[in-house]
Amino acid sequence: MDFLRPTTWEEALAAKADQPEAVPIQGGTDVMVEINFDVRRPVALLDLNQVRELQDVELVDGVQRVGAGVPYVRVIEELGGALPGLAQASRTVGSPQIRNRASVGGNLGAASPAGDSHPPLLAGDAVIEVESRDRGVRLIPAAEFYLGVKRSALEPDELIRAFRMKPAEGPQYFSKVGTRNAMVIAVCSFAVALHPSERRVGTGIGSAAPTPRRALEAEAFMAAELDWDARLDPAVLKRFGELCARAASPIDDVRGTADYRRHALAVMARRTLTWAWNDYRKARAA
Ligand SMILES: Cc1cc2nc3c(=O)[nH]c(=O)nc-3n(C[C@H](O)[C@H](O)[C@H](O)COP(=O)(O)OP(=O)(O)OC[C@H]3O[C@@H](n4cnc5c(N)ncnc54)[C@H](O)[C@@H]3O)c2cc1C
Repeated sequence: MDFLRPTTWEEALAAKADQPEAVPIQGGTDVMVEINFDVRRPVALLDLNQVRELQDVELVDGVQRVGAGVPYVRVIEELGGALPGLAQASRTVGSPQIRNRASVGGNLGAASPAGDSHPPLLAGDAVIEVESRDRGVRLIPAAEFYLGVKRSALEPDELIRAFRMKPAEGPQYFSKVGTRNAMVIAVCSFAVALHPSERRVGTGIGSAAPTPRRALEAEAFMAAELDWDARLDPAVLKRFGELCARAASPIDDVRGTADYRRHALAVMARRTLTWAWNDYRKARAA
């Protein structure tokens, strides 16, 4: 197995263009598990750990741009204010050891429907920045990035450079159901983000469909029915939960049944929206 070790972003893009079958490795918390269990035996590994550009966290024209190699621990420590939903999801990933190594870029690269970063990226309208040597930069909205189970819109000669997301202008929450409290793959998960200036509620569903996805009907319902100047109407809240559950197409598997997942999604949707709404009302009253 070849081991490619670029030290700059340009070198990394050139290596991927010359050898598209090379498998990128960042934290290695997915890649090494697959190699150790013989799930795949890549002809080459493209180690991105020396590429400093992938560690950048910056604010560009009011948008947070976070390098694909930034580990969860830095999302938690540095971005809790700007991207609270993603930071909250990051706190639920694996263990401290995993959070020190593993990255959002790696979660995107793996594109597992159960990846914890996906629901908050969807709810917060994130855009994924990918690049190839020969065709340059592509900006892919998170909602268009996930194509199937562990399949994404990334082309073989492309690498993920960063994700971009506007700092939260309203409360954001993430919730995850697992078979225990830590070191657990989500049975299902849900993220909500309030966008008060647009009078919009963003959603993200995890581990309850072949890909992470938004609950579009629920979002449209809230755009039409939510009164931003009043208390949260229990009937609206209930319908929001139902529509979020309806947006899922879960399966029965070892972690949970499809019925349970739908039920849990409705509960998480109601719960996270209530938390977010209470924060929003409190901030307005202050
Ligand atoms: C014990 C354990 C617990 C875990 N718990 C969780 C959990 O709670 N929640 C969760 O979501 N995940 C969990 N995971 C899975 C894993 O940690 C995450 O998916 C993590 O985000 C992967 O990041 P990484 O940097 O380690 O990726 P890697 O393993 O380095 O890469 C993952 C995939 O992304 C690709 N890739 C990496 N960087 C790039 C790039 N810049 N451009 C293109 N492709 C790229 C790789 O080729 C590979 O296909 C767990 C894993 C372990 C071993």
